[in-house]
Amino acid sequence: MQAVALHPEVIVARSVKWQTSCTVLHHGDETFVVDSVIYPSELELLPGLLAQAGWELSGLLVTHGDWDHVLARLAFPEAALGVAETTAARLRAEPGRAARQLRQADEDDYVQRPRPLSLGQVQALPVPGKLGLGDSELELLPADGHTQDGMAVWSPAHRILCCGDYLSPVEIPWLSETGSRDAYLATLERLRPWVEEARWVVPGHGTPLEAQRALAILREDVAYLQALPDPDAPLPPARRTPAQRKIHAENLTRVRTR
Ligand SMILES: [Zn+2]
Repeated sequence: MQAVALHPEVIVARSVKWQTSCTVLHHGDETFVVDSVIYPSELELLPGLLAQAGWELSGLLVTHGDWDHVLARLAFPEAALGVAETTAARLRAEPGRAARQLRQADEDDYVQRPRPLSLGQVQALPVPGKLGLGDSELELLPADGHTQDGMAVWSPAHRILCCGDYLSPVEIPWLSETGSRDAYLATLERLRPWVEEARWVVPGHGTPLEAQRALAILREDVAYLQALPDPDAPLPPARRTPAQRKIHAENLTRVRTR
């Protein structure tokens, strides 16, 4: 796991698996953890990270309901989990799915955990909406298209955008089972003004990005999505790995069957 401070009040930890990012936002006397790292040895380090900074956890937030983003409860078993209303509906509709998918991934990776995942009390947050962070307010923005649910989190005190599975430097736009190209494109346009304002954009997978780099990725992603369902849609040059071609193939079937 790598951890970097983007600001005296913001730490981003990045998992070895899929470069999944976990953002700690602190301001005043409140602290939220957005999304999660994955491996047990990484999750174990999170409480110490907060303690070292002298920050007390207010709650957990997730950008969307995919299993790799909802694991912070394993590190903070008492914490409330704040999610977009769309994500709350999704989690209600598929109870236990994240835990099952985690078990499957752990089997594939030969990973053992001290306890199974339980999401506990899930708190549905209105999105668009605001959430107090000390004397500041996080802005919760709708972010669907990768999946049918989700939100991006903008912290005006730090000018940091946690955008979930959009604008990744390592993953092409992924239309998952419930994803939609039109919704994905609309989310990118919705995020654009926030990206322009941002000091840092923290994607769900990959390193934090400065605004200019994030905007370049946004342009590449729009071009890619607009070219679908052309099988020769241009994959962004830095993201042409076999794994990304597999996602591309999945995207093609998704766009063709809609
Ligand atoms: Zn993800």
